[in-house]
Amino acid sequence: MGKLDGRVVIVTGAARGQGEQEARLFVAEGARVVVADVLDDLGEALAKEIGARYVHLDVGVEQEWQAAVAAAKKAYGRLDGLVNNAGILRFNALVDTPLEEFMQVVQVNQVGCFLGMKTVAPELADGGTIVNTASYTALTGMAAVGSYTATKHAVLGLTRVAALELADRGIRVNAICPGAVDTAMSNPARLDPDADPAEMSRALDELYRKLVPLGRIGRAEEVARLALFLTSDDSSYITGQPFVIDGGWLAGVSVI
Ligand code: NAD
Repeated sequence: MGKLDGRVVIVTGAARGQGEQEARLFVAEGARVVVADVLDDLGEALAKEIGARYVHLDVGVEQEWQAAVAAAKKAYGRLDGLVNNAGILRFNALVDTPLEEFMQVVQVNQVGCFLGMKTVAPELADGGTIVNTASYTALTGMAAVGSYTATKHAVLGLTRVAALELADRGIRVNAICPGAVDTAMSNPARLDPDADPAEMSRALDELYRKLVPLGRIGRAEEVARLALFLTSDDSSYITGQPFVIDGGWLAGVSVI
């Protein structure tokens, strides 16, 4: 028996990275998954491979959410879960960040999460789940990623409010707060077709060996297992909480 047997779950930003691993794991655990992304070729190919359904969805556009939810319900007849995973990152010092760039990050990371919950929650079966992908920058500051950090703090705030407002229908809402994870976001070399992924991962582990207590960067598969926990009945008494998955990075400073 799978942990998600019979459940229908939308995963945004699922064409690659953490979302891809979540879609793969959820299907393996018996869910019917809607892979949603703006990367249509990658998303279509993944959906075909794992037996899921692909929908084009720019999470910052309300009409696209309405169309995606309608497509999911038409295909599977119900909705039990949402993983708001889509996100973007931009590097800039606060005083150098153009307003347009700041608003672009807000539109995807924050508005996307808001619209996802706003559109999907009324359609979720009672007892459904929402998992919002925040970041450990939802809980601390990080220089050079001010727009991103602001939106991830906001995602955590939205998570707590939604947990309070949806609890009477048994809908649980939690947030994942990853540290550094080996995906294209933190390792753009992954998008280079000539690069060797194993070599890239070794280089990243070396970089994070001193920074992170567990001595390496996180893997998308590890985050997917946390998303599974929060989407399944294993977390049946948990709502409104941030879950840090960062190899101990936020635990504190070390002088040894
Ligand atoms: P990624 O860049 O590989 O994946 C992000 C996915 O989101 C891509 O498939 C992309 O096409 C999609 N996306 C971007 N804009 C979109 C939009 N407007 N509508 C729909 N889809 C869109 O990176 P990832 O690491 O897999 O990121 C997944 C989530 O994890 C993000 O929310 C990110 O902020 C968060 N996160 C990542 C890290 C990390 O170190 N990689 C750390 C903490 C949090």
